[in-house]
Amino acid sequence: MNNLTAMKGIPVKKVERSKLQDIPESIPFGKYFTDHMLEADYENGEWKNVEIKPYQPLVMSPSAAVLHYGQSIFEGIKAYKDKNGNAYIYRPHDNFRRFNISAERIQMPAISEEIFIEGMAKLIELDKNWIPDREDHSLYIRPFMFATDEQIGVKPSDTYKFLILLSPTGPYYGAPMRIYVEEKYTRAAPGGVGYAKTAGNYASSLFATAEARRKGYDQVLWTDANEHKYAEEIGTMNVFFIIDGKGVTPDLSTGTILEGVTRDSAITLLKDMGVTVEEKRVNLDEVVEAYKAGKVTEIFGTGTAATISMIRELKYKDTVMTFNEDSWKIAPEIKRRMDAIKNGSAPDIHGWMYKI
Ligand SMILES: *Cc1c(COP(=O)(O)O)cnc(C)c1O
Repeated sequence: MNNLTAMKGIPVKKVERSKLQDIPESIPFGKYFTDHMLEADYENGEWKNVEIKPYQPLVMSPSAAVLHYGQSIFEGIKAYKDKNGNAYIYRPHDNFRRFNISAERIQMPAISEEIFIEGMAKLIELDKNWIPDREDHSLYIRPFMFATDEQIGVKPSDTYKFLILLSPTGPYYGAPMRIYVEEKYTRAAPGGVGYAKTAGNYASSLFATAEARRKGYDQVLWTDANEHKYAEEIGTMNVFFIIDGKGVTPDLSTGTILEGVTRDSAITLLKDMGVTVEEKRVNLDEVVEAYKAGKVTEIFGTGTAATISMIRELKYKDTVMTFNEDSWKIAPEIKRRMDAIKNGSAPDIHGWMYKI
């Protein structure tokens, strides 16, 4: 068969030899990529040259706008395989919507559902053997877009590249974390780009994270830019508190918080479990008060990579709050329910699994 075949409109150039057998047993996150990638160009106001081709380096001008002013956005999604070998993507339409919200915020063109969702599905279908069928393994999907104008002037680029990479990933053994409340550095301010998944948000968070590591912590809990007393996110995850048996998480109205798909899933599952959920500004002085009254039982972060990351210690000013693993009940139950839906052992009552 010719290795240049059309797949539902998107031309496919296949590798001659798969690299799948070269992947180690235990797979480090984000280090290995599948045989193929999707690539598209934006020029003259439209997306063109959409193709799936062997994973390969990009050739770019050193004057490419993204390298200078950072017009770049991305997404993180996961695909799973069920017992019968069927492949599913977890809530890709939510990431598709969010991608275009990010694009608009930093003056980039929207991508079509045809390229983002259908292109992704075609790519995964082609590299389906790469979805690990071992427990707790998945295929991480990384769509991203960046500016390619060859001009170092500050303006929105006229040309862009959109790509999708696939990376097989093993289980994320996130040990419970030690976190302190960040009162000096800020991740996002009102009116800024906190709600968008831009590369720059990650670059600007690295210094505070490195400082936390130097002090012996795993991450920071970001607070609001004005007063540094309201909880926002943990590292690059959304944050939940279980207080008095209720789920409490920062609301999205400030525009400084990334609207996580895992956050939304956790809220939905909490409600399924009969747990009341409050989305509101979370005042950390009130969290300390509740902790002292013995009412704070669990704190955790949510995100696609780790699903749920538990906090075993949270330091705020002079108070060190510690949490005992034996009493964690709600977060593990959210994880159990989410995993059951993902691996097909529980019915997908919320329509989260997109079958390829
Ligand atoms: C991606 C991201 C999250 C988590 O979003 P998910 O859709 O759950 O993966 C949370 N916070 C920030 C800042 C992020 O970039």
